Amino acid sequence: LHLRKIELRGFKSFADKTEIKFKDGITAIVGPNGSGKSNISDAVRWVLGEQSAKTLRGSKMEDIIFAGTTNRKPLGMAEVSLTLDNESNKLDVDYSEVTVTRRVYRSGDSEYYINKSLCRLKDIKEIFMDTGVGIDGYSIIGQGKIDEILSNKTGDRRLLFEEAAGIVKYRTRKQESERKLENTEQNLTRVDDIISELE
Ligand code: ATP
Repeated sequence: LHLRKIELRGFKSFADKTEIKFKDGITAIVGPNGSGKSNISDAVRWVLGEQSAKTLRGSKMEDIIFAGTTNRKPLGMAEVSLTLDNESNKLDVDYSEVTVTRRVYRSGDSEYYINKSLCRLKDIKEIFMDTGVGIDGYSIIGQGKIDEILSNKTGDRRLLFEEAAGIVKYRTRKQESERKLENTEQNLTRVDDIISELE
């Protein structure tokens, strides 16, 4: 899966619409301390559904919206779009290019889109499951991540291998089915109770 471009608007230090294109090969982003390099990888995590403000180096989700400067007013909305190449059909959608977008307002309302159609966070998580791209994947290796992987509990490390092996999707579906089964069993018990009351 090749990341073609990222578009940011109102996200952290990127007040104006900023588009970063990634060509084939390796792209390096360089700049002085505090110029916003890490904000770009935060944006990637965020659009993929990151819910923890702490992981995004803030204290609350609102901190990701451009907070203003001495000569510029704060903005009310942040939006990030990631465009990925899907020529190889690794993502289970009928498009050769997939753009996922997340938008958040100061009120806290969040919206997600896949190719400009409104969707749920669950849909975004699902298309990236087992591709290594999701927030639980290994496509974003932040500072200290390698140390964390090496020293992690074996169970946590196993999750990483499961994602690479492509079985997370099946485990998630199994959990969903088990939940439905449990609900059905509870409903059946309730029906049995009603029947025995009527008898
Ligand atoms: P380093 O090389 O030191 O790791 P960096 O280039 O990775 O730095 P970042 O940490 O990405 O820099 O960017 C930090 C900058 O982003 C700071 O100047 C900070 O003021 C700015 N910033 C963070 N959140 C917001 C926000 N909500 N509104 C405006 N600016 C913000």
